[in-house]
Amino acid sequence: MTPVDPTLPYDDQNIFAKILRGEIPCTKVYEDEWAFAFLDINPQAPEHILVVPKGPYVSWDDFSLTASAEEIAGFIRAVGKIAREKGLVEPGYRAIANIGPNSGQLVPHLHVHICGGRPLGRMIP
Ligand code: C5P
Repeated sequence: MTPVDPTLPYDDQNIFAKILRGEIPCTKVYEDEWAFAFLDINPQAPEHILVVPKGPYVSWDDFSLTASAEEIAGFIRAVGKIAREKGLVEPGYRAIANIGPNSGQLVPHLHVHICGGRPLGRMIP
């Protein structure tokens, strides 16, 4: 796959848009008004969940710029709720979003990776 150019307009044919519309199967773990979450098909940790906003955002960049305060709060609260419900808060987990080519973002629909279930080490960057 080609790395995402976060400056391009949203393409509603991206794979996560199709998952959101139910056109492609996934293992769903959570859904509310603002967020939808499913298992990553190539897990990098015992728990590896992808959380996507329901709105059409390419990355954290356009989301943080153009989403409403309600959407942003709803989405961030959903990420925290999923991690709590999975029992990841203690001993800890990582929540990350890749944005653009330098990060290796592959899917042009904002997604937060929740990874946990094993010691993850420090990751800066
Ligand atoms: O952040 P990035 O865009 O690189 O991550 C994309 C993620 O989406 C990968 O971890 C990949 O395994 C996952 N994926 C998925 N289901 C698909 C396509 C990609 O879980 N159908």
